[in-house]
Amino acid sequence: MRAFAVEYRRLFHEYYGDNPPWDCWFCKEPIMETGQSGQSLIRHHIDGDQYNNDPENLVPAHRSCHNKGHARPNSVMSDEGRARVSAARKAYIAAHYEEICQHLDDVRILTVKAR
Ligand SMILES: [Zn+2]
Ligand SMILES: [Zn+2]
Repeated sequence: MRAFAVEYRRLFHEYYGDNPPWDCWFCKEPIMETGQSGQSLIRHHIDGDQYNNDPENLVPAHRSCHNKGHARPNSVMSDEGRARVSAARKAYIAAHYEEICQHLDDVRILTVKAR
């Protein structure tokens, strides 16, 4: 699933640039940093559809605003969007099955080694 993350990250920075500030979609205030703090950047899909990477759907948000926004699960995502996500997920898994299994093996190996 890493391929998606890379794809929407790349597109996000194509649309909005590599450097802060970005304007939060929820509160409209500037986002000044990336990282793990509540004020840091999250790349948010408005309709919840990770495959819909249009600039109208892929927007910047503060981590804290984003968490509040997602406290209402599925409320923003249409039935059509949900169906598209699950269909696209199935297609992706079918197309990348061996790669995903390989990745799971890597994770398992790393986990075993870490002990
Ligand atoms: Zn915000
Ligand atoms: Zn989101």
